[in-house]
Amino acid sequence: MKILCVVRNYAPHAKEMQSAIPTEPVFFMKPDSALNPKQLPFFYPDFSQDVQHELELVVRIERLGKCIRPEFAHKYYNSVALGIDFTARDIQRGFKERSMPWLISKGFDGSAVVGPFVKLEELGKSINDLSFDLKINGETRQQGNSSEMIFDVDHLIAYVSRFITLRTGDLIYTGTPAGVGPVKIGDKIIGTLEGRELLNLDIK
Ligand code: MG
Repeated sequence: MKILCVVRNYAPHAKEMQSAIPTEPVFFMKPDSALNPKQLPFFYPDFSQDVQHELELVVRIERLGKCIRPEFAHKYYNSVALGIDFTARDIQRGFKERSMPWLISKGFDGSAVVGPFVKLEELGKSINDLSFDLKINGETRQQGNSSEMIFDVDHLIAYVSRFITLRTGDLIYTGTPAGVGPVKIGDKIIGTLEGRELLNLDIK
């Protein structure tokens, strides 16, 4: 499986990163070794002094697809989860300054947290109207709704599948709303989707 991630898919986040709003989706990938699907503690890596949280809605692909049209994209997923795209911001910054690929800053082991998947049917809501938030030690740090995405899930799937075949089990991290920031050892992170606590993670 592969882990596809979208950058700058919420305008206020693009602004906080002092980045332009993209005119088409921009993707990167994490290796499957980055995945932490059981919410084991996140062990703060010794190679960074600025690991930051990015809370994201995650969609799991349920069937093989290539060149998927946006109007058919909804047939390729049926559930969502909350995930954290952990980012070693200091390392990423260093690579960006040199215009080099910043893979290791976002692809390191444990950097792709994902909680349990919930069927959209069970939520009884459109994928384009899901509220989610992240608290650290009880304090709300990020709040978003999928209606605020620059490119909605169906368009993300349509766009990326023109270039890259999607397979069952692939994950798409759909971008983070504003409010990204550093984590530190001892923090407890709670993520909530439509009032359901789906993430509960300790930083160690
Ligand atoms: Mg991200």
